[in-house]
Amino acid sequence: MGTKDKLRRLSVGKADVNLMPRWGARVLFEPGTKIKKTSSNPGLASLTLRKKLIDRLRKRGIVDATVLKAIGIVERHRFVDSALASMAYEDLALPIGFKQTISQPFVVARTISIVRKLLSKNRSEDELAHLNILEVGCGCGYQAAVLSECFGQVTSVERIHPLYEKALKNCAEYVSKRKLKLHFYDGKSGFNDGAPYDAIFFSASLEKFPGELIEQVKDGGVVLAPTGINLQYLLAGIKEVSLSESFSISSYDVVSYVPLREGLDRL
Ligand code: SAH
Repeated sequence: MGTKDKLRRLSVGKADVNLMPRWGARVLFEPGTKIKKTSSNPGLASLTLRKKLIDRLRKRGIVDATVLKAIGIVERHRFVDSALASMAYEDLALPIGFKQTISQPFVVARTISIVRKLLSKNRSEDELAHLNILEVGCGCGYQAAVLSECFGQVTSVERIHPLYEKALKNCAEYVSKRKLKLHFYDGKSGFNDGAPYDAIFFSASLEKFPGELIEQVKDGGVVLAPTGINLQYLLAGIKEVSLSESFSISSYDVVSYVPLREGLDRL
């Protein structure tokens, strides 16, 4: 998955946008990835493993020091079942139950790097650290925790109740510091209560870019959404100040996310 930054640009308002070609490769399990058995106590070994993970992300082109630092701080093995803890620092998506996955570290790092880069055009590093962020699709809370290390205020919503509860437990430290708010909520139309946001991250894929969310985003803010039906393009739309009610959209990597679903699941 190379960095095909700015493959194309276009301006859209609330109109539907669907740009999907039918090519690309899944990144959930990359060919050639060696799955090592690590220490029987992943807690003790995790600092070394996180450093190795950061080196791997750097080699794959992640250069944003804030993002790499955040990945180094968040203990990913705490977000997966203990049976999978020894694989937590491999650059892989892993199952978390309910047919969902914890995101691949590269995808977490890449999406946050893209958004920070777009936002940094008009903001200092200090301003970036105080921004208001929404994530749709919290899952077990890993990306929400990494986002909390990078930005000021994060809200993350999840539609599957047991996963929402898992995230509450996994992210207790960020919730108690009031850096992170979690809600059991269907975020297909965003989450108006915390708006306006500086950025909205979709952690599940959409069929069309969510142009209607323009009202929940500040001027100059960004919506990042994996968009497409089987494989998706990562699309980032910046709300243009000069053009009222429109996003300027750039297309990035080909990715494979679980699909966004409607409604709440209490299971
Ligand atoms: N952000 C997670 C990855 C979660 S996988 C991480 O850090 O690892 C995608 C998640 O999106 C799933 O948990 C799924 O239940 C959730 N999801 C799908 N549709 C949703 C919706 N409409 N509203 C909120 N969450 C949704």
